[in-house]
Amino acid sequence: MPDFVGAVDQGTTSTRFMIFDHDGAEYAKYQLEHEQILPRAGWVEHNPIEIWTRTAAVIQTTLQRTRLHHSDLAALGVTNQRETTVVWNPRTGRPYYNAIVWQDTRTDRIAAALERDGRGQVIRDRTGLRPEAYFSGGKIQWILENVDGVREAVDRGEAVFGNTDTWTLWNLTGGVNGGVHITDVTNASRTMLMDLDTLDWDDELLSFFGIPRAMLPEIRPSADPSHYGVTLGYGPVGGEVPITAILGDQQAATVGQVCFSPGEAKNTYGTGNFLLLNTGTSRVRSESGLLTTVAYKFGDQPAVYALEGSIAVTGSAVQWLRDQLHIITSAPQSETLARQVPDNGGVYFVPAFSGLFAPYWRADARGAIVGLSRYNTDAHIARATLEAICYQSRDVVEAMQRDSGVVLDVLRVDGGVTSNDLCMQLQSDILGVPVSRPTVSETTALGAAYAAGLAVGYWRDTTELRTHWAEDRRWEPTWTQEQREEGYAGWKKAVTKSFAWLD
Ligand code: ADP
Repeated sequence: MPDFVGAVDQGTTSTRFMIFDHDGAEYAKYQLEHEQILPRAGWVEHNPIEIWTRTAAVIQTTLQRTRLHHSDLAALGVTNQRETTVVWNPRTGRPYYNAIVWQDTRTDRIAAALERDGRGQVIRDRTGLRPEAYFSGGKIQWILENVDGVREAVDRGEAVFGNTDTWTLWNLTGGVNGGVHITDVTNASRTMLMDLDTLDWDDELLSFFGIPRAMLPEIRPSADPSHYGVTLGYGPVGGEVPITAILGDQQAATVGQVCFSPGEAKNTYGTGNFLLLNTGTSRVRSESGLLTTVAYKFGDQPAVYALEGSIAVTGSAVQWLRDQLHIITSAPQSETLARQVPDNGGVYFVPAFSGLFAPYWRADARGAIVGLSRYNTDAHIARATLEAICYQSRDVVEAMQRDSGVVLDVLRVDGGVTSNDLCMQLQSDILGVPVSRPTVSETTALGAAYAAGLAVGYWRDTTELRTHWAEDRRWEPTWTQEQREEGYAGWKKAVTKSFAWLD
Protein backbone atom coordinates (compact mmCIF):
# COMPACT_ATOMS: atom_id res chain seq x y z
CA MET A 1 0.00 0.00 0.00
CA PRO A 2 1.42 3.45 -0.93
CA ASP A 3 2.32 5.79 1.95
CA PHE A 4 -0.07 8.70 1.34
CA VAL A 5 -3.56 9.79 0.35
CA GLY A 6 -4.28 12.98 -1.62
CA ALA A 7 -7.22 15.38 -1.68
CA VAL A 8 -8.26 18.12 -4.07
CA ASP A 9 -10.23 20.84 -2.28
CA GLN A 10 -11.92 23.03 -4.88
CA GLY A 11 -13.12 25.86 -2.59
CA THR A 12 -14.93 29.13 -3.15
CA THR A 13 -11.88 31.37 -2.81
CA SER A 14 -9.13 28.93 -3.71
CA THR A 15 -8.26 25.43 -4.80
CA ARG A 16 -5.76 23.39 -2.81
CA PHE A 17 -4.13 20.03 -3.05
CA MET A 18 -3.15 18.25 0.13
CA ILE A 19 -1.33 15.08 0.95
CA PHE A 20 -1.92 13.25 4.25
CA ASP A 21 -0.05 10.44 5.92
CA HIS A 22 -1.31 7.41 7.77
CA ASP A 23 -1.80 9.36 11.02
CA GLY A 24 -4.04 11.84 9.20
CA ALA A 25 -1.29 14.45 9.51
CA GLU A 26 -0.72 17.02 6.80
CA TYR A 27 2.34 16.10 4.72
CA ALA A 28 2.10 18.73 1.98
CA LYS A 29 -0.18 21.48 0.75
CA TYR A 30 -0.30 24.05 -2.00
CA GLN A 31 -3.13 26.38 -2.97
CA LEU A 32 -4.04 29.06 -5.49
CA GLU A 33 -6.86 31.61 -5.42
CA HIS A 34 -9.11 32.21 -8.39
CA GLU A 35 -10.93 35.31 -9.51
CA GLN A 36 -14.29 36.27 -7.99
CA ILE A 37 -16.22 37.67 -10.95
CA LEU A 38 -18.90 40.14 -9.81
CA PRO A 39 -20.67 41.37 -12.96
CA ARG A 40 -23.67 42.93 -11.18
CA ALA A 41 -25.06 43.40 -7.69
CA GLY A 42 -25.93 39.96 -6.36
CA TRP A 43 -24.15 38.02 -9.13
CA VAL A 44 -21.08 35.92 -8.34
CA GLU A 45 -19.27 33.84 -10.95
CA HIS A 46 -16.08 31.81 -11.39
CA ASN A 47 -14.32 30.88 -14.60
CA PRO A 48 -14.41 27.02 -14.79
CA ILE A 49 -11.35 26.91 -17.06
CA GLU A 50 -9.38 28.96 -14.54
CA ILE A 51 -10.57 26.62 -11.79
CA TRP A 52 -9.34 23.57 -13.69
CA THR A 53 -5.97 25.09 -14.65
CA ARG A 54 -5.41 26.12 -11.01
CA THR A 55 -6.43 22.65 -9.85
CA ALA A 56 -3.92 21.06 -12.22
CA ALA A 57 -1.26 23.57 -11.13
CA VAL A 58 -1.70 22.94 -7.39
CA ILE A 59 -1.49 19.17 -7.89
CA GLN A 60 1.63 19.42 -10.05
CA THR A 61 3.37 21.88 -7.74
CA THR A 62 2.65 19.81 -4.62
CA LEU A 63 4.01 16.66 -6.23
CA GLN A 64 7.10 18.45 -7.56
CA ARG A 65 7.89 20.10 -4.23
CA THR A 66 7.57 16.88 -2.27
CA ARG A 67 9.23 14.76 -5.00
CA LEU A 68 6.35 12.33 -4.64
CA HIS A 69 4.95 10.32 -7.55
CA HIS A 70 1.50 9.06 -8.37
CA SER A 71 2.65 5.68 -7.07
CA ASP A 72 3.03 7.20 -3.58
CA LEU A 73 -0.71 7.90 -3.45
CA ALA A 74 -3.07 5.11 -2.42
CA ALA A 75 -6.15 7.07 -3.53
CA LEU A 76 -7.49 10.54 -4.21
CA GLY A 77 -10.54 12.30 -2.83
CA VAL A 78 -12.29 15.35 -4.24
CA THR A 79 -14.13 17.93 -2.16
CA ASN A 80 -15.70 21.11 -3.44
CA GLN A 81 -17.66 24.30 -2.98
CA ARG A 82 -21.21 23.02 -3.16
CA GLU A 83 -24.11 24.18 -5.35
CA THR A 84 -21.86 26.20 -7.72
CA THR A 85 -23.08 25.28 -11.17
CA VAL A 86 -21.14 24.52 -14.36
CA VAL A 87 -22.70 23.54 -17.71
CA TRP A 88 -20.21 22.50 -20.36
CA ASN A 89 -19.80 20.75 -23.67
CA PRO A 90 -18.19 17.33 -23.08
CA ARG A 91 -17.08 17.17 -26.74
CA THR A 92 -15.04 20.38 -26.60
CA GLY A 93 -14.51 20.83 -22.86
CA ARG A 94 -15.79 24.42 -23.14
CA PRO A 95 -18.22 25.75 -20.53
CA TYR A 96 -21.30 27.48 -21.95
CA TYR A 97 -21.22 30.07 -19.21
CA ASN A 98 -19.18 30.97 -16.15
CA ALA A 99 -19.83 28.88 -13.05
CA ILE A 100 -22.75 30.44 -11.15
CA VAL A 101 -21.56 30.48 -7.56
CA TRP A 102 -23.67 29.38 -4.59
CA GLN A 103 -23.79 32.95 -3.25
CA ASP A 104 -25.27 34.29 -6.50
CA THR A 105 -28.83 35.63 -6.06
CA ARG A 106 -29.89 36.05 -9.71
CA THR A 107 -32.36 33.17 -9.39
CA ASP A 108 -34.29 34.68 -6.47
CA ARG A 109 -37.36 35.03 -8.69
CA ILE A 110 -37.22 31.40 -9.82
CA ALA A 111 -37.10 30.37 -6.16
CA ALA A 112 -39.89 32.72 -5.12
CA ALA A 113 -42.17 31.41 -7.89
CA LEU A 114 -41.72 27.85 -6.60
CA GLU A 115 -42.82 28.99 -3.17
CA ARG A 116 -46.05 30.53 -4.43
CA ASP A 117 -47.77 27.51 -5.98
CA GLY A 118 -47.15 24.58 -3.67
CA ARG A 119 -44.06 23.26 -5.41
CA GLY A 120 -42.04 24.68 -2.53
CA GLN A 121 -43.62 22.18 -0.16
CA VAL A 122 -42.74 19.29 -2.48
CA ILE A 123 -39.15 20.53 -2.50
CA ARG A 124 -39.09 20.76 1.29
CA ASP A 125 -40.55 17.29 1.79
CA ARG A 126 -38.51 15.51 -0.81
CA THR A 127 -35.12 17.24 -0.71
CA GLY A 128 -34.83 18.57 2.86
CA LEU A 129 -34.01 21.98 1.33
CA ARG A 130 -36.12 25.08 0.74
CA PRO A 131 -36.70 26.80 -2.58
CA GLU A 132 -33.78 29.22 -2.54
CA ALA A 133 -31.48 30.82 -5.09
CA TYR A 134 -28.63 29.17 -3.14
CA PHE A 135 -29.16 25.66 -4.60
CA SER A 136 -28.19 24.40 -8.06
CA GLY A 137 -31.63 23.69 -9.60
CA GLY A 138 -32.53 27.30 -10.35
CA LYS A 139 -28.99 28.05 -11.53
CA ILE A 140 -29.20 25.25 -14.14
CA GLN A 141 -32.62 26.54 -15.21
CA TRP A 142 -31.18 30.04 -15.59
CA ILE A 143 -28.42 28.77 -17.91
CA LEU A 144 -30.91 26.73 -19.96
CA GLU A 145 -33.14 29.79 -20.37
CA ASN A 146 -30.55 32.52 -20.83
CA VAL A 147 -27.62 31.07 -22.72
CA ASP A 148 -28.22 30.59 -26.44
CA GLY A 149 -28.21 27.07 -27.77
CA VAL A 150 -27.75 25.19 -24.49
CA ARG A 151 -31.15 23.53 -24.46
CA GLU A 152 -30.66 22.20 -28.00
CA ALA A 153 -27.13 21.12 -27.11
CA VAL A 154 -28.51 18.98 -24.26
CA ASP A 155 -30.57 17.01 -26.80
CA ARG A 156 -27.42 16.31 -28.82
CA GLY A 157 -25.55 15.17 -25.71
CA GLU A 158 -23.41 18.29 -25.94
CA ALA A 159 -24.34 20.02 -22.69
CA VAL A 160 -23.90 18.48 -19.26
CA PHE A 161 -24.22 19.82 -15.74
CA GLY A 162 -21.92 19.40 -12.80
CA ASN A 163 -21.02 21.07 -9.56
CA THR A 164 -17.29 21.68 -9.29
CA ASP A 165 -16.69 18.14 -7.96
CA THR A 166 -18.06 16.74 -11.21
CA TRP A 167 -16.17 19.29 -13.32
CA THR A 168 -12.92 18.46 -11.51
CA LEU A 169 -13.48 14.70 -11.72
CA TRP A 170 -14.34 14.89 -15.43
CA ASN A 171 -11.13 16.79 -16.13
CA LEU A 172 -8.99 14.56 -13.90
CA THR A 173 -10.24 11.41 -15.63
CA GLY A 174 -9.51 12.56 -19.17
CA GLY A 175 -11.94 15.37 -20.03
CA VAL A 176 -12.85 15.24 -23.72
CA ASN A 177 -11.02 11.90 -23.94
CA GLY A 178 -13.54 9.96 -21.88
CA GLY A 179 -13.79 11.86 -18.61
CA VAL A 180 -16.41 10.35 -16.27
CA HIS A 181 -19.62 12.26 -15.45
CA ILE A 182 -20.29 11.44 -11.82
CA THR A 183 -21.24 13.18 -8.57
CA ASP A 184 -21.87 11.91 -5.06
CA VAL A 185 -24.95 11.90 -2.82
CA THR A 186 -23.80 14.88 -0.74
CA ASN A 187 -23.42 17.19 -3.73
CA ALA A 188 -26.61 15.89 -5.32
CA SER A 189 -28.44 16.63 -2.06
CA ARG A 190 -27.78 20.36 -2.65
CA THR A 191 -29.47 20.67 -6.03
CA MET A 192 -33.21 20.54 -5.10
CA LEU A 193 -33.34 17.69 -7.66
CA MET A 194 -32.53 14.62 -5.55
CA ASP A 195 -34.98 12.69 -3.38
CA LEU A 196 -33.37 12.40 0.05
CA ASP A 197 -34.82 8.90 0.59
CA THR A 198 -34.17 7.23 -2.79
CA LEU A 199 -30.88 9.13 -3.30
CA ASP A 200 -31.77 9.46 -6.99
CA TRP A 201 -32.78 12.32 -9.29
CA ASP A 202 -36.54 12.84 -9.07
CA ASP A 203 -38.54 13.37 -12.29
CA GLU A 204 -41.15 15.64 -10.71
CA LEU A 205 -38.45 17.86 -9.23
CA LEU A 206 -36.64 17.96 -12.58
CA SER A 207 -39.89 19.07 -14.23
CA PHE A 208 -40.15 22.06 -11.82
CA PHE A 209 -36.98 23.46 -13.37
CA GLY A 210 -37.34 22.08 -16.89
CA ILE A 211 -34.08 20.16 -16.51
CA PRO A 212 -33.55 17.10 -18.76
CA ARG A 213 -32.23 14.09 -16.82
CA ALA A 214 -29.74 13.42 -19.62
CA MET A 215 -27.59 16.38 -18.60
CA LEU A 216 -27.18 15.20 -14.99
CA PRO A 217 -24.28 13.15 -13.62
CA GLU A 218 -24.65 9.67 -12.16
CA ILE A 219 -25.05 9.77 -8.36
CA ARG A 220 -22.63 7.53 -6.46
CA PRO A 221 -21.68 7.02 -2.78
CA SER A 222 -19.29 9.54 -1.19
CA ALA A 223 -16.69 6.81 -0.70
CA ASP A 224 -16.66 4.20 -3.42
CA PRO A 225 -14.40 1.12 -3.30
CA SER A 226 -15.12 0.48 -6.99
CA HIS A 227 -13.69 3.97 -7.73
CA TYR A 228 -15.22 6.55 -10.08
CA GLY A 229 -12.22 6.62 -12.37
CA VAL A 230 -8.44 6.97 -12.37
CA THR A 231 -6.11 9.87 -13.05
CA LEU A 232 -4.05 9.71 -16.22
CA GLY A 233 -0.41 9.67 -17.18
CA TYR A 234 -0.70 12.86 -19.19
CA GLY A 235 -2.71 14.70 -16.49
CA PRO A 236 -1.35 16.66 -13.53
CA VAL A 237 -0.99 13.57 -11.33
CA GLY A 238 1.30 11.97 -13.93
CA GLY A 239 -0.05 8.44 -13.61
CA GLU A 240 -2.94 6.30 -12.48
CA VAL A 241 -4.40 6.86 -9.02
CA PRO A 242 -7.95 5.73 -8.22
CA ILE A 243 -10.36 8.51 -7.29
CA THR A 244 -12.50 6.96 -4.58
CA ALA A 245 -14.23 9.80 -2.71
CA ILE A 246 -16.32 12.85 -3.45
CA LEU A 247 -17.85 14.97 -0.69
CA GLY A 248 -19.24 18.49 -0.66
CA ASP A 249 -16.90 20.68 1.40
CA GLN A 250 -19.10 20.92 4.49
CA GLN A 251 -19.79 17.22 4.57
CA ALA A 252 -16.07 16.59 4.08
CA ALA A 253 -15.30 18.81 7.09
CA THR A 254 -17.84 16.81 9.11
CA VAL A 255 -15.90 13.64 8.23
CA GLY A 256 -12.56 15.41 8.85
CA GLN A 257 -13.79 16.38 12.31
CA VAL A 258 -14.75 12.70 12.85
CA CYS A 259 -18.40 13.58 13.61
CA PHE A 260 -19.45 9.99 12.94
CA SER A 261 -22.01 9.61 15.75
CA PRO A 262 -25.46 11.17 16.00
CA GLY A 263 -25.26 14.34 18.09
CA GLU A 264 -21.73 15.28 16.97
CA ALA A 265 -21.40 18.65 15.23
CA LYS A 266 -18.82 20.96 13.68
CA ASN A 267 -18.85 24.59 12.56
CA THR A 268 -16.67 25.60 9.59
CA TYR A 269 -15.67 29.26 9.19
CA GLY A 270 -14.73 29.98 5.57
CA THR A 271 -16.32 32.26 2.99
CA GLY A 272 -19.55 31.46 4.81
CA ASN A 273 -20.20 29.37 7.92
CA PHE A 274 -21.73 25.92 7.96
CA LEU A 275 -22.73 24.08 11.09
CA LEU A 276 -23.57 20.40 10.55
CA LEU A 277 -25.02 18.06 13.14
CA ASN A 278 -24.88 14.32 12.47
CA THR A 279 -28.39 12.86 12.93
CA GLY A 280 -27.49 9.28 12.00
CA THR A 281 -29.40 7.24 9.43
CA SER A 282 -32.66 9.08 10.08
CA ARG A 283 -33.46 12.39 8.48
CA VAL A 284 -34.63 15.02 10.94
CA ARG A 285 -36.98 17.71 9.66
CA SER A 286 -36.24 21.22 10.79
CA GLU A 287 -38.89 23.49 12.24
CA SER A 288 -36.35 26.24 12.85
CA GLY A 289 -34.86 27.15 9.49
CA LEU A 290 -32.18 24.49 9.14
CA LEU A 291 -31.71 22.18 6.15
CA THR A 292 -31.69 18.41 6.05
CA THR A 293 -28.88 17.04 3.96
CA VAL A 294 -26.83 13.90 3.33
CA ALA A 295 -23.71 13.91 5.54
CA TYR A 296 -22.04 11.00 3.75
CA LYS A 297 -22.58 7.53 2.39
CA PHE A 298 -19.65 5.15 2.58
CA GLY A 299 -19.85 2.33 0.02
CA ASP A 300 -22.99 0.25 0.41
CA GLN A 301 -23.60 1.29 4.01
CA PRO A 302 -26.76 3.36 4.63
CA ALA A 303 -26.58 7.10 4.09
CA VAL A 304 -25.96 9.23 7.18
CA TYR A 305 -27.91 12.50 7.38
CA ALA A 306 -27.24 15.88 8.94
CA LEU A 307 -29.06 19.02 10.00
CA GLU A 308 -27.28 22.02 8.57
CA GLY A 309 -27.21 25.70 9.41
CA SER A 310 -25.80 27.56 6.40
CA ILE A 311 -24.63 31.17 6.74
CA ALA A 312 -23.79 32.93 3.47
CA VAL A 313 -21.36 35.62 4.59
CA THR A 314 -18.78 35.29 7.36
CA GLY A 315 -15.13 35.20 6.18
CA SER A 316 -16.18 37.00 3.00
CA ALA A 317 -17.26 39.97 5.14
CA VAL A 318 -13.61 40.16 6.23
CA GLN A 319 -12.60 40.07 2.55
CA TRP A 320 -15.05 42.92 1.97
CA LEU A 321 -13.29 45.02 4.65
CA ARG A 322 -10.06 44.33 2.77
CA ASP A 323 -11.10 44.60 -0.88
CA GLN A 324 -13.99 47.06 -0.87
CA LEU A 325 -13.70 49.21 2.26
CA HIS A 326 -9.87 49.05 2.31
CA ILE A 327 -9.71 49.43 6.09
CA ILE A 328 -7.37 46.42 6.31
CA THR A 329 -4.82 45.02 3.87
CA SER A 330 -5.02 41.36 4.92
CA ALA A 331 -7.59 39.12 6.61
CA PRO A 332 -5.48 38.61 9.79
CA GLN A 333 -5.30 42.39 10.16
CA SER A 334 -9.01 42.35 11.02
CA GLU A 335 -7.89 41.05 14.41
CA THR A 336 -5.26 43.74 15.03
CA LEU A 337 -7.72 46.46 14.09
CA ALA A 338 -10.58 45.03 16.15
CA ARG A 339 -8.29 44.74 19.19
CA GLN A 340 -7.79 48.50 19.22
CA VAL A 341 -11.20 48.80 20.90
CA PRO A 342 -12.52 46.98 23.97
CA ASP A 343 -15.99 46.31 22.52
CA ASN A 344 -18.21 47.03 19.52
CA GLY A 345 -18.99 50.59 20.71
CA GLY A 346 -22.69 49.95 20.01
CA VAL A 347 -22.11 49.02 16.35
CA TYR A 348 -23.63 45.94 14.71
CA PHE A 349 -22.94 44.81 11.16
CA VAL A 350 -25.41 42.45 9.49
CA PRO A 351 -23.55 41.25 6.36
CA ALA A 352 -26.68 40.23 4.43
CA PHE A 353 -24.96 40.69 1.06
CA SER A 354 -26.80 37.69 -0.44
CA GLY A 355 -29.87 38.06 1.74
CA LEU A 356 -29.82 36.04 4.95
CA PHE A 357 -29.58 32.27 5.00
CA ALA A 358 -30.23 30.12 8.09
CA PRO A 359 -32.20 30.46 10.20
CA TYR A 360 -33.91 33.53 8.68
CA TRP A 361 -33.99 32.76 4.93
CA ARG A 362 -34.69 36.33 3.89
CA ALA A 363 -33.79 36.84 0.24
CA ASP A 364 -35.09 40.40 0.64
CA ALA A 365 -32.48 41.35 3.27
CA ARG A 366 -29.39 43.42 2.44
CA GLY A 367 -26.39 44.43 4.52
CA ALA A 368 -26.76 46.93 7.33
CA ILE A 369 -24.37 48.65 9.71
CA VAL A 370 -26.39 50.08 12.58
CA GLY A 371 -25.83 51.85 15.88
CA LEU A 372 -23.22 54.25 14.52
CA SER A 373 -22.36 57.43 16.40
CA ARG A 374 -19.68 60.07 15.80
CA TYR A 375 -17.46 58.24 18.31
CA ASN A 376 -17.10 55.09 16.16
CA THR A 377 -14.03 54.21 14.09
CA ASP A 378 -12.93 51.60 11.58
CA ALA A 379 -11.87 49.50 14.57
CA HIS A 380 -15.52 49.23 15.68
CA ILE A 381 -16.51 48.16 12.18
CA ALA A 382 -13.81 45.47 12.23
CA ARG A 383 -14.97 44.28 15.62
CA ALA A 384 -18.61 44.29 14.55
CA THR A 385 -17.60 42.17 11.53
CA LEU A 386 -15.98 39.53 13.73
CA GLU A 387 -18.94 39.63 16.09
CA ALA A 388 -21.33 39.19 13.15
CA ILE A 389 -19.58 35.91 12.32
CA CYS A 390 -20.19 34.77 15.90
CA TYR A 391 -23.73 36.08 16.31
CA GLN A 392 -24.83 34.40 13.08
CA SER A 393 -23.37 31.17 14.44
CA ARG A 394 -25.29 31.64 17.67
CA ASP A 395 -28.52 32.02 15.70
CA VAL A 396 -27.81 28.70 14.02
CA VAL A 397 -26.76 26.92 17.22
CA GLU A 398 -30.01 27.99 18.88
CA ALA A 399 -32.03 26.70 15.92
CA MET A 400 -30.13 23.42 16.01
CA GLN A 401 -30.76 22.96 19.72
CA ARG A 402 -34.49 23.63 19.20
CA ASP A 403 -34.72 21.10 16.34
CA SER A 404 -32.63 18.30 17.76
CA GLY A 405 -32.70 18.76 21.52
CA VAL A 406 -28.92 18.31 21.43
CA VAL A 407 -27.28 20.87 23.72
CA LEU A 408 -23.70 21.58 22.73
CA ASP A 409 -21.17 21.31 25.51
CA VAL A 410 -18.35 22.31 23.18
CA LEU A 411 -18.26 23.68 19.62
CA ARG A 412 -15.76 22.03 17.25
CA VAL A 413 -14.50 24.58 14.75
CA ASP A 414 -12.33 24.72 11.63
CA GLY A 415 -11.74 26.86 8.53
CA GLY A 416 -9.77 29.98 7.59
CA VAL A 417 -11.36 32.34 10.12
CA THR A 418 -10.46 30.09 13.08
CA SER A 419 -6.89 31.42 12.88
CA ASN A 420 -8.39 34.65 14.26
CA ASP A 421 -7.89 34.30 17.99
CA LEU A 422 -10.11 37.27 18.90
CA CYS A 423 -12.94 35.95 16.75
CA MET A 424 -12.79 32.53 18.42
CA GLN A 425 -12.72 34.14 21.88
CA LEU A 426 -15.76 36.21 20.91
CA GLN A 427 -17.47 33.04 19.65
CA SER A 428 -17.01 31.38 23.01
CA ASP A 429 -18.21 34.52 24.83
CA ILE A 430 -21.26 34.96 22.61
CA LEU A 431 -22.29 31.28 22.83
CA GLY A 432 -21.31 30.69 26.42
CA VAL A 433 -19.66 27.35 25.56
CA PRO A 434 -16.02 26.41 24.96
CA VAL A 435 -14.76 26.46 21.37
CA SER A 436 -12.28 23.77 20.31
CA ARG A 437 -10.03 23.70 17.24
CA PRO A 438 -8.23 20.51 16.13
CA THR A 439 -4.55 20.25 15.19
CA VAL A 440 -5.40 19.70 11.53
CA SER A 441 -7.22 22.88 10.61
CA GLU A 442 -7.76 21.73 7.00
CA THR A 443 -10.57 19.38 7.94
CA THR A 444 -12.27 19.70 4.56
CA ALA A 445 -9.37 18.22 2.61
CA LEU A 446 -8.74 15.77 5.45
CA GLY A 447 -12.34 14.51 5.27
CA ALA A 448 -12.06 13.88 1.53
CA ALA A 449 -8.77 12.06 2.12
CA TYR A 450 -10.35 10.00 4.94
CA ALA A 451 -13.23 8.91 2.71
CA ALA A 452 -10.86 8.08 -0.16
CA GLY A 453 -8.53 6.14 2.15
CA LEU A 454 -11.39 4.20 3.77
CA ALA A 455 -12.59 3.12 0.32
CA VAL A 456 -9.27 1.43 -0.53
CA GLY A 457 -8.52 0.05 2.94
CA TYR A 458 -5.68 2.54 3.63
CA TRP A 459 -7.55 3.16 6.90
CA ARG A 460 -9.51 0.32 8.48
CA ASP A 461 -12.59 2.09 9.81
CA THR A 462 -13.96 5.25 11.39
CA THR A 463 -12.80 4.11 14.83
CA GLU A 464 -9.22 4.30 13.60
CA LEU A 465 -9.84 7.79 12.22
CA ARG A 466 -11.16 8.96 15.59
CA THR A 467 -7.79 8.26 17.20
CA HIS A 468 -6.22 10.93 14.95
CA TRP A 469 -8.33 13.80 16.26
CA ALA A 470 -6.43 16.00 18.71
CA GLU A 471 -7.20 19.42 20.14
CA ASP A 472 -4.89 22.25 19.21
CA ARG A 473 -6.53 25.11 21.06
CA ARG A 474 -9.58 25.79 23.25
CA TRP A 475 -11.30 29.08 24.10
CA GLU A 476 -13.43 29.38 27.26
CA PRO A 477 -16.23 31.93 27.79
CA THR A 478 -15.26 35.06 29.75
CA TRP A 479 -18.41 37.23 29.43
CA THR A 480 -21.06 37.36 32.14
CA GLN A 481 -24.50 36.04 31.29
CA GLU A 482 -25.78 39.61 31.36
CA GLN A 483 -23.18 40.80 28.83
CA ARG A 484 -24.02 37.85 26.62
CA GLU A 485 -27.76 38.45 26.57
CA GLU A 486 -27.41 42.20 26.14
CA GLY A 487 -25.08 41.71 23.19
CA TYR A 488 -27.36 39.14 21.59
CA ALA A 489 -30.44 41.33 22.02
CA GLY A 490 -28.59 44.09 20.14
CA TRP A 491 -27.78 41.67 17.35
CA LYS A 492 -31.39 40.45 17.02
CA LYS A 493 -32.56 44.04 16.76
CA ALA A 494 -29.92 44.81 14.11
CA VAL A 495 -30.98 41.79 12.04
CA THR A 496 -34.53 43.11 11.76
CA LYS A 497 -33.13 46.34 10.26
CA SER A 498 -31.72 44.39 7.31
CA PHE A 499 -35.10 42.83 6.40
CA ALA A 500 -37.31 43.83 3.48
CA TRP A 501 -34.66 46.11 2.00
CA LEU A 502 -35.40 44.93 -1.54
CA ASP A 503 -39.17 45.45 -1.33
P1 ADP B 1 -13.11 28.65 1.67
O1 ADP B 1 -12.85 27.18 1.85
O2 ADP B 1 -14.56 29.04 1.76
O3 ADP B 1 -12.46 29.22 0.44
P2 ADP B 1 -11.21 29.15 3.87
O4 ADP B 1 -11.46 28.15 4.94
O5 ADP B 1 -9.96 29.04 3.05
O6 ADP B 1 -12.48 29.38 2.94
O7 ADP B 1 -11.18 30.58 4.59
C1 ADP B 1 -11.04 31.73 3.84
C2 ADP B 1 -11.81 32.84 4.52
O8 ADP B 1 -11.27 33.07 5.82
C3 ADP B 1 -11.70 34.16 3.76
O9 ADP B 1 -13.00 34.67 3.58
C4 ADP B 1 -10.89 35.07 4.68
O10 ADP B 1 -11.38 36.40 4.67
C5 ADP B 1 -11.07 34.45 6.04
N1 ADP B 1 -9.89 34.58 6.91
C6 ADP B 1 -8.68 34.01 6.74
N2 ADP B 1 -7.84 34.35 7.74
C7 ADP B 1 -8.54 35.16 8.58
C8 ADP B 1 -8.24 35.84 9.81
N3 ADP B 1 -7.05 35.73 10.39
N4 ADP B 1 -9.22 36.59 10.36
C9 ADP B 1 -10.44 36.67 9.79
N5 ADP B 1 -10.78 36.04 8.65
C10 ADP B 1 -9.84 35.30 8.05
